[in-house]
Amino acid sequence: MVKGTTSMGKRSRGKTHIRCRRCGRHAYNVRKHYCAACGFGRSRRIRRYSWQNKKVNRIRIK
Ligand SMILES: [Zn+2]
Repeated sequence: MVKGTTSMGKRSRGKTHIRCRRCGRHAYNVRKHYCAACGFGRSRRIRRYSWQNKKVNRIRIK
């Protein structure tokens, strides 16, 4: 009685990241209270790096 149907019911327990209020991405850490993607809750500035070049919600972050 494992692996299948019965154990699937335990998969919805808790979540690490929720949708971020600032960047809208699913990267806000519930326990640490900061966003892994934009740094919301950690710093006032948007978290970004020179080596980082990615599209965030269809907008290119430079
Ligand atoms: Zn964020």
